[in-house]
Amino acid sequence: MTIAPARPTRTGAGTGWVEDWAPLGACSKTDPDALFVQGAAQQTAKIVCQRCPVIAECLADALDNRTEFGVWGGMTERERRALLKRRPNITSWAALFQQARQQQGTAETA
Ligand code: SF4
Repeated sequence: MTIAPARPTRTGAGTGWVEDWAPLGACSKTDPDALFVQGAAQQTAKIVCQRCPVIAECLADALDNRTEFGVWGGMTERERRALLKRRPNITSWAALFQQARQQQGTAETA
C-alpha cells in the first residue's frame, strides 16, 4: 500500500507560510535521530537545516511548543531556550515569522 505524502497547506495570505511543513523538511528523508544529538554533533545537524525550505515554520513550531530536545529550525535546544528567555513577550512565533515574511515580500516588490 502506498500512502501519498501530505500536501502542504499554505496560509497567511500570500506569505507562503506552510502549515503542514514536516513532509517538506530537508530532514524528512534522513535519519530522524541525526537531529537528536549532543555537543559538537549538533553543529553538524544544523547544517541540514540551512538548506531547508521550511526552516522558519519548523523553528516557529519548536518555539511555540517549547520543544525541549533536538535541533529544530536550525537551532539547538540551548539556543531556543536562550531566545525564549530574551523574548518572553512573544506569544506566537509563527505569527511573528509570517508577519516578517510578509513585510519582506512587500519590501522586495516595492
Ligand atoms: S529546519 Fe531542520 S529540523 Fe526543521 S524540518 Fe528543516 S531540516 Fe528538519
